[in-house]
Amino acid sequence: MNNLISLLATENQKNSSYEKMKSIIFDIIFQHIQDMVFIMKAHSSGFTYIFVNEAGLRNAGLSANVIGMTIQEALPLHHAHLLLPHYNEVLKEKKTLAFSSEFFPDTGDIYFGETILTPIIDDQEVRYIIAVTRDVTETVKEKQELVESEQRFRSIVENNMDAIFSLSLDGQILYSNPAASKLTGFTEKQIAYRSFYDFIADPDISTFRDLLVKAEAGYALETMDCRLIHRKGFLLTMSLKTVPIVIDEEVKGLYVIGRDVTEQARNAETIKFMAFHDQLTGLLNRRALLEHLNEEIQYCKKQRNEFALISIDLDRFKLLNDSLGHLAGDEILKKVAGRLIDIQNQNCRIYRQGGDEFNFLLTKTNRKGTALFAQKILSQFTDSFYLNSNEYYISPSIGISIYPNDGRDAETLIKNADEALYRVKRKGKAHYQFYRSEMNAVMTNIVNLETNLRKAIDREELKLYFQPQFDLRTQETKSFEALLRWNSPELGNIPPGDFIPLAEDTGLIVPIGHWVIETACRQIREWNDKGYKDIRVAVNISPKQFQQPSFTKSIQARLEKYRLHPSSLEIEITEGAMRDTKETIPILKRLREMGVTISIDDFGTGYSSLNYLKESPIDVLKIDQSFVRDILINEKNAAITSTIIHLGQSLGMEVIAEGVETKQQADFLINANCHKVQGYYYGKPLPEYEVESKFLKKK
Ligand code: C2E
Ligand code: MG
Ligand code: MG
Repeated sequence: MNNLISLLATENQKNSSYEKMKSIIFDIIFQHIQDMVFIMKAHSSGFTYIFVNEAGLRNAGLSANVIGMTIQEALPLHHAHLLLPHYNEVLKEKKTLAFSSEFFPDTGDIYFGETILTPIIDDQEVRYIIAVTRDVTETVKEKQELVESEQRFRSIVENNMDAIFSLSLDGQILYSNPAASKLTGFTEKQIAYRSFYDFIADPDISTFRDLLVKAEAGYALETMDCRLIHRKGFLLTMSLKTVPIVIDEEVKGLYVIGRDVTEQARNAETIKFMAFHDQLTGLLNRRALLEHLNEEIQYCKKQRNEFALISIDLDRFKLLNDSLGHLAGDEILKKVAGRLIDIQNQNCRIYRQGGDEFNFLLTKTNRKGTALFAQKILSQFTDSFYLNSNEYYISPSIGISIYPNDGRDAETLIKNADEALYRVKRKGKAHYQFYRSEMNAVMTNIVNLETNLRKAIDREELKLYFQPQFDLRTQETKSFEALLRWNSPELGNIPPGDFIPLAEDTGLIVPIGHWVIETACRQIREWNDKGYKDIRVAVNISPKQFQQPSFTKSIQARLEKYRLHPSSLEIEITEGAMRDTKETIPILKRLREMGVTISIDDFGTGYSSLNYLKESPIDVLKIDQSFVRDILINEKNAAITSTIIHLGQSLGMEVIAEGVETKQQADFLINANCHKVQGYYYGKPLPEYEVESKFLKKK
């Protein structure tokens, strides 16, 4: 500027049009440039404005009459205080000075300026100072934003709970965050510049290579199949994300963002395990069976192979469960599962459907191989089971269906194996049987049976038959057991052994039981009215029915309704129903108070403690037919029978032997001083009119 003014002065002397030119040049230089220009005169009292260009007036918020004012007069105090030290320095040092400053005009904005102060020196003194201030607000703000956004980004990465690695495209780790160190057990330094591949479990390396290639192509991906190795050597199941780092539309590297999901993976596996396994035995469950059956069907359809589905049901398990309690029942089921596992091979899988039902799915087999396998299952049960140092014999009934002959879908195969099994049960249990399609016609499936049974009462398809009980002492027949008969128009005669368990399972036994009691009571009344007095009729009561809270009340109501002598009604319960003696004894006592006769059916088969005999008000013991059947060939059974007779007598109870079919059996029982006998030898269960004509005598 110094030079410029002297230049202009020189020009002035040379050129008469100096004034005109000066105004043009000033216009151009000072008025139109965007920088602010202030020319200040230095004097003893400070610095006075002698020129301010357009931008200076505008941006510094000065009015046109600023000329002649000092800095302190023209500017707000704080602003003047910021500037004055710089001016004073130039005054003192006589050198050009540059500084940055922020100023806050009244608008509330903030401006950043970069100023150059140039002294104009004359005679060793600073006479003028020219201030040129450039508004750098935009640049400064941009820079600040950049710093802030970088800090923001750093904050995401540094404080992230996920491990973050920044990788070059060849997999070298350029940066990792603290979470990455926490995850892997290595420090940031130990991680830096190593290959990310070093941290990946060997089998998963190719998975990661794939991700890397795809990241390079610009794809962000996610995987659960890439495990990392912890510093201590164990593997971490990860949820890994790869995110390409794109700069100027070019992939320069990638971020790997990972989270340890080992725990969740383990939970997911546990959940899956639980969904497909039986909790009690750890065997596969019904859901698994259905799934595997469907898979096997698909496979064998293509291969034209056969496979076998074996259904197993434990004989009389319910009885055992009821008499020993569920905990003991569970223990037995576990032991059974153990024995089945012992014969498992690579061509078969074992399932527990629930309860005492097990299945085998046998692949790569035929009918003959399956029969051999079924025998193997049976042989696993020849040894007794021990529980709390007691010995129990358990046998299985086994039904088999073969794909594709006995069914082409899972449901049919299961249904048919069950029907074969059901047949085994009816024929005497403890054996195996293949499904034959002609069974279908004779056999009804259980669903069908249930639907029909529900309607049986209303349709009057149920009947009571009465089996005589012969008194060996008086040679008279005065008591009878009422036995249920169901003649279904659709299904024919169905034995109670088939439908009573179903009725028990479905709860239908309660209305059926009511019907039996009602009918038996009505029959006693009818016989009494006809002059047949002193008659006793026994009805069988299921445990479920017995445990109904209203049971004793409903008995009382029937006795009253038909005006019966209470002892003419006998209640037969099995040992199974006596399981919970705390609950049963009060019920039995109520019945005894009412005067009803109480008998224990199938005595000797219920695994019960003999203690309850002492505590319960029992009138009659019925020796189970299984003892009577072999009385003459099996010494043990003979001994048991005699013992029960003695036991009953010494406790003052009546003893009835069931299932007496031959004279020899009868003779044995007479010899053993048995009180009463019941069985085909003395009379089959008969409809009431035949009982009347054959056995009843008027009094
Ligand atoms: P249970 O109470 O032990 O009845 C005796 C069973 O033995 C009857 O079979 C009877 O017909 C049969 N029986 C009688 N004498 C002989 C014989 O000399 N030889 C052979 N082999 N069997 C003989 P049923 O009528 O088939 O009844 C079977 C079971 O069904 C009964 O066993 C009983 O537990 C149950 N049941 C029958 N009626 C009812 C009922 O009304 N309610 C309940 N809850 N259960 C019933
Ligand atoms: Mg009975
Ligand atoms: Mg019986």
